[in-house]
Formats: sequence, structure tokens, C-alpha cells
Amino acid sequence: MIGGGNSGVEAAIDLANIVSHVTLIEFDSKLRADDVLQRKLNSLANVDVLLSARTTEVVVMARG
Ligand SMILES: Cc1cc2nc3c(=O)[nH]c(=O)nc-3n(C[C@H](O)[C@H](O)[C@H](O)COP(=O)(O)OP(=O)(O)OC[C@H]3O[C@@H](n4cnc5c(N)ncnc54)[C@H](O)[C@@H]3O)c2cc1C
Repeated sequence: MIGGGNSGVEAAIDLANIVSHVTLIEFDSKLRADDVLQRKLNSLANVDVLLSARTTEVVVMARG
């Protein structure tokens, strides 16, 4: 997940319920999402948060 605002953190929480691992990448040195969302995110064992990390490219690999 890219971005630690409300949208990104909420999506990371939802994803964490259906995939084995989620990595959230945030450009800033802290998340911008509401505290209640950050607390929920931090309570999830299968989520890693990378701060001060700017996403510059998304590469989609075609299958087959
Ligand atoms: C659950 C929820 C609750 C909400 N509650 C409210 C509310 O109470 N009041 C209200 O007014 N609005 C609310 N909103 C709306 C939302 O907070 C606003 O629309 C907000 O301005 C936009 O949030 P965002 O997460 O889309 O973007 P942003 O808050 O702008 O977050 C984007 C994040 O992505 C990061 N980013 C950007 N580019 C990169 C990059 N290249 N690599 C890595 N990171 C990057 C930024 O640093 C930033 O932290 C809510 C939304 C949700 C989903």
C-alpha cells in the first residue's frame, strides 16, 4: 500500500484481513491518518510500515 493518509491506512487494514502480509510505504516521516486508524494498523502483526520512503515506480509483471 502506498500512502499513510486515511485512505491508505484504511485500505492496509482491510487488506491485512485477506492477505498474509501488507507493507505500507509512506513518503513522510510519520503517518497522516487519524489516530484511531493508526492504532488499529499498529495492532496488526502482519503489517509493516516503511516511513521516509518515497515510491517512485510501480512495476507490474505480466504472468505467463
Ligand atoms: C477512514 C477515513 C476517514 C476519514 N475521515 C475524515 C474526517 O473525519 N474528516 C475529513 O475531512 N475527511 C476525512 N476523510 C477523508 C480523507 O482524510 C481526506 O480526503 C484526505 O485529505 C485525503 O486522504 P488520503 O489518504 O486520500 O490522502 P493524504 O491524506 O494526502 O495521504 C496521502 C499520503 O501518501 C503519501 N504519499 C504521497 N506520495 C507518496 C509516494 N510517492 N510514496 C510514498 N508515500 C506517498 C503522503 O505523504 C500522504 O501521507 C476520511 C477518509 C477515510 C478513508
